[in-house]
Parts: sequence; C-alpha cells; structure tokens
Amino acid sequence: MKKALVIGGGIAGPVTAMALQQAGWEAVVYEAYADTAAGQIGAYLTVAVNGLSALAEIDAHHIVMDTGHATDTLSFFTSAGKHITDMPIGGTLPDGTVTHSVKRRDLYRALNAEAARRGIRYEFGKRLVDAEPTATGGVVAIFADGSRAEADLLVGADGIHSRTREIIDPNAPKVHYLGIYGLGGFVTDPALVHELGLRPGVYSMIFGKKAFFGYLVAPGGEIWWFANMPGAQELSKQTVASTAPAQWRDQLARMLAADRGPAAAIVAATPDATFVTGFNQYDMPSVPTWHNDRMVIIGDAAHAVASSSGQGVSMAVEDAVTLAICLRDLPETATALAEFEHRRRDRVERVVAHGAETSGDKAQSGLARFLVRQLTPFFLKKAAKQGVGSLNWMFDHRISWSGESADQPVHPSA
Ligand SMILES: Cc1cc2nc3c(=O)[nH]c(=O)nc-3n(C[C@H](O)[C@H](O)[C@H](O)COP(=O)(O)OP(=O)(O)OC[C@H]3O[C@@H](n4cnc5c(N)ncnc54)[C@H](O)[C@@H]3O)c2cc1C
Repeated sequence: MKKALVIGGGIAGPVTAMALQQAGWEAVVYEAYADTAAGQIGAYLTVAVNGLSALAEIDAHHIVMDTGHATDTLSFFTSAGKHITDMPIGGTLPDGTVTHSVKRRDLYRALNAEAARRGIRYEFGKRLVDAEPTATGGVVAIFADGSRAEADLLVGADGIHSRTREIIDPNAPKVHYLGIYGLGGFVTDPALVHELGLRPGVYSMIFGKKAFFGYLVAPGGEIWWFANMPGAQELSKQTVASTAPAQWRDQLARMLAADRGPAAAIVAATPDATFVTGFNQYDMPSVPTWHNDRMVIIGDAAHAVASSSGQGVSMAVEDAVTLAICLRDLPETATALAEFEHRRRDRVERVVAHGAETSGDKAQSGLARFLVRQLTPFFLKKAAKQGVGSLNWMFDHRISWSGESADQPVHPSA
C-alpha cells in the first residue's frame, strides 16, 4: 500500500487523509499543535454547497450538517441601518442541502475526529521544518523536534503560512498583510435577540463607516458575529497574546460608534470567554509551483481565497478529493500530481479572482475604501438583479468519485 504524509490537521488535512484512504492509500496526519483547533483563527465559517457536495463523495458532508446549521440568505445594510438587498447564498443540492455555517473550532475538531474514527493515524506536536527526496523514490519529512517520517508522497495541507510551499519552491511568493484585523465572538442572550429584532437564519452584513460587521442568529438563539477593521500595524505574536478581550472590545466599539444597527450592542454583550480577539488578515499572490515529483500543496497552502467569498473551505475540500482521485487512477505519483494541478488550477484561480473582486470593500483603506464603499450598494443591487445564476459556475461545480476517472486524463501529457 502506498503511503502519504499529510502535513496539517486543519480542513484540507483530514479530508485529504480520508479521501486517500478511500483511494487505497495509507495516510498519516502530522499537526504542529497538540490540538487540531488550537492554532486556528476566526469565529465561524460558511461552507458552500460545492464544498458540501465534494465532502459527500467521501461520505463526510454530514459532519458539517450535524455540526452547523443552514444559512441560505445574505442581507446587506448601510452604516445608517438602511437595508440594501437580500441575496441567496449559493444554490441547493438535489437533496435540499444549502450552505451551512459552523463554528470553526467545531468543524476542525469534528473533521479530525471523523478521520481518526476511520482509523487514520495522527501525530500531534509535529511541526514540519524540512523535507527531502529519498534515494528510493520516496520523501522524508523532518520535524522541529528532530523526528523524521518517510513515505511515497508528502501533502502540504499546512495553511496560508505553509512551510511545504517554501520547501517545494524556495522562491514561492510570500503572504502579505492586508492592513485589516479580524475579530469575532458568540453571545447567548435571548433578550438581546428579541430587543434588537434579529432574524434567525439570515446572515446580515453591515457596511459600517469604519468597520465591516457580519452576524447571524443560530437556531438555539446564539448570536455569531465577526468584524473587520483597519489596522495599520501587523500584529506580532506578543501583541496578540498580551491584548485582552476588553481592549479589543473598546477598540471595536469606537469603530462602530457612528453606525446604526445592532453591531455595537452585540459586541458590548460578548463575554471575554467567547470573544475572538484580533488577528491579522493576509493575502497571497498566485503560487506558480504547486508540486514536484513527491510533494504537493493543497488548500490555503496553494491558494488564498478571500474570506468574504465563503469558498476557502470548499476549495480545500475540492482539492483534497480531486487529488485522491488522481492518485487512485494514475500509478505514477508525479503524473498524478501534474494531473491534479491541471484539474484544479483554472477553477481555483477563477474563484480567487472572484473573491478578490468582491472583497474590495474590506481590503481597501482611506479614500479608496471610502469610494468602494459608496459604490457597494450599487454593485450589490446589480448582483441581486442578476441573481445567483451569475455564480452558477462557482456553486454548481461537482466532483464525482465514481464518475470521474483520471484514466481519461484532462492533462494531455498524463
Ligand atoms: C477570518 C476568516 C474567515 C473565513 N471565513 C471563511 C468562510 O466563511 N468560508 C470558507 O469557506 N472559508 C473561510 N475562510 C477561509 C478558510 O478558513 C480556509 O480557506 C481554510 O481554513 C483552509 O483550510 P486548510 O486546511 O488549507 O488550512 P488551515 O485551516 O489553515 O489548516 C492548516 C493546518 O496546518 C497546520 N500547520 C501549519 N503549519 C504546519 C507545519 N509546519 N507542520 C505541521 N502542521 C502545520 C496548522 O496548525 C493547521 O491545523 C476564512 C478565513 C479567515 C481568515
């Protein structure tokens, strides 16, 4: 049986391991932290129907459905509290499944628990620092604790700050700080939901004067929220560790003070224990090299999809299932990796480009940000008129485990 070292127990890691197992490979997951959810940032994620459909091919979509809840409508507001428009998020799968929202920690824990339940071996506290080819045609991974592991393939599912990306190509592009901090939190306060008149099941977005704010009410009545606000200085690890929730709450309150709507009250009501303190937001240019003969990067390690597109998880999952199909059907690992890239690159780059376009309102600062924000209601109304049909190419993408064979390669030289 061929063996793969999967670096990273985030989203792409456990899904790759499960898909490889289904393809007849042995996979071992190496995670830098002691807990798969420990190194993660952000409060919650929306998982689009194309991602859920890809997960269904390895019978893992129920993990998102069981852990999260349906979120099928986006509602946009101005800083003055004026409703701009409502838009459906993505389409509906034949069985009625729609986009779901799930707490980030819950999703990481549930996906990795499912992989472990299926018999996939995990090694925690293993931070990849280097990897090199072996004389026998394999690859050896070297970890920060000095230990080593050998296999036929190394899959770098190690996120946007990927070490695997640098090992494959020392000249790979670097991430760049966007000048934006992310924050978030959870509040359980039924009286507040009632008082503010919040609608369950609707994901509301507010284009505030100084900060962008999104929130939803989960079925049990808990409010989930996130905010993006400008931050000139990239936060150091020390600053992140030493800045208390109360300081972030005050800073965000000042940003939201001039806006109407529920944002300020939601932030004020968020207890320290469920306050997701500030983190840096990054972007990454297109990565020219995704693989060599024995190593490949997938998910955020290979491409950074804007968080506002709600497609990062789906792209990671689509990558993982496609990679396993290629390795299942093509006996030469190097050929399978080339086929994988060929099948994925155009789609991923189109999604990245779409995300970059729609996140302009959040990514700009100063005058540019102001101008983009003034135009946002116009673009949103236009998009709502066009309907979700204009995004069918993104949501309707399907990967079929049984129907798609790499015996009929898309890549001409495969
Ligand atoms: C604020 C924010 C909001 C977002 N919202 C959404 C959303 O609503 N919907 C959506 O689809 N996407 C969203 N995204 C994007 C989404 O989070 C990512 O696309 C997704 O997490 C990518 O999964 P991944 O497995 O590739 O990387 P990650 O989830 O980052 O996992 C990488 C894993 O690798 C581990 N690791 C890193 N380096 C090493 C190493 N050297 N050795 C061993 N292990 C290592 C890490 O600890 C981590 O567990 C958002 C992103 C952000 C920042």
